[in-house]
Amino acid sequence: MTLYQINEKEHTVNFVWGIKNAQLLTAGKRIKQYSFDDILIQLEEFREQLNVIENIRLQMMDYIEKDKSYLDELVNIVSDYVDDYRKNIFFVHYSGVLTTRYSKILKEVTMPKDYVVAWIKRKQIIEDARNKIQNFFDEFLSVINDDRNFDYHESDETLITMSDLKLAVIRGNGHNEVYHVPDDMLLNFFYEFSYTVYKLGFKVQECHFCHKHFLGTSDSICCERVQCQEQHQKLLSKQAREERKNTPYAHEVDNYHTYVRNLMKELRKAKINPVKLDEFEDEKERRKAIIKRKKKECMEFGLPLEELLDVIAEHREAMKQLADRYIEEL
Ligand SMILES: [Zn+2]
Repeated sequence: MTLYQINEKEHTVNFVWGIKNAQLLTAGKRIKQYSFDDILIQLEEFREQLNVIENIRLQMMDYIEKDKSYLDELVNIVSDYVDDYRKNIFFVHYSGVLTTRYSKILKEVTMPKDYVVAWIKRKQIIEDARNKIQNFFDEFLSVINDDRNFDYHESDETLITMSDLKLAVIRGNGHNEVYHVPDDMLLNFFYEFSYTVYKLGFKVQECHFCHKHFLGTSDSICCERVQCQEQHQKLLSKQAREERKNTPYAHEVDNYHTYVRNLMKELRKAKINPVKLDEFEDEKERRKAIIKRKKKECMEFGLPLEELLDVIAEHREAMKQLADRYIEEL
């Protein structure tokens, strides 16, 4: 069986493929992890390649009339079709399920309980088998192609009941590890994943950096890939720098700092006593803190720029006088 577990906090889904009951304790070691965005991208790829699935359906419809020995051939054809998509969980899962389902249906045709009846009703039996295959395809394709799984604006009321919800529970370490066992069409997984995405308030968005689709809130800018997150951080700090430069308050304060730094340079060039240089440095820091407080007050309360300029002028003059005095005392 297959197990899956949705982690809402980490935005990941863990899958354990092809595990037997006796192997459950080792499930943790066999986990394959996918991010929500991996799942979305793979689903989109699967939807784009539905002609592959359609070809498989046509082959199956065709082969149902033939002898049982064709089954192996069909299995090969199916695996050829999905070979290009080995990393896509939907291709891998459905190709397996399609083959299993098909061989069951085929068995009803080729190995009937009553051969005489089967011979007489052959046309009807083949027709029924074809309908079963068609229904199976219709059912899973309608879910997979339903945009309402990730978009909740549509208000059609559809009630879906799932009869065989199954769980696998591993007890230990003070908690129960709960896994869901998906039905073979992954329908319960789909609805749970879709509901989790909904609860998080996520929608399909396009990443500002890599332009891939991802699931995020309407104000998310980029997907959760490391490269995109790094680019986002860079952009944020660049914006913060620019914003800072652009406020008139910050601009005036920056000018003041440049002025005082130049005074320091002159004092060093004049080789004044290092003790005095330290004193000057302390005075610089003390006044810097006063100006910073004033700037914060002006920005918070939207006070006129002149109010800050007056304070800056006062401290600028004081620093100038101090520097002049030190040079005179040489
Ligand atoms: Zn991205």
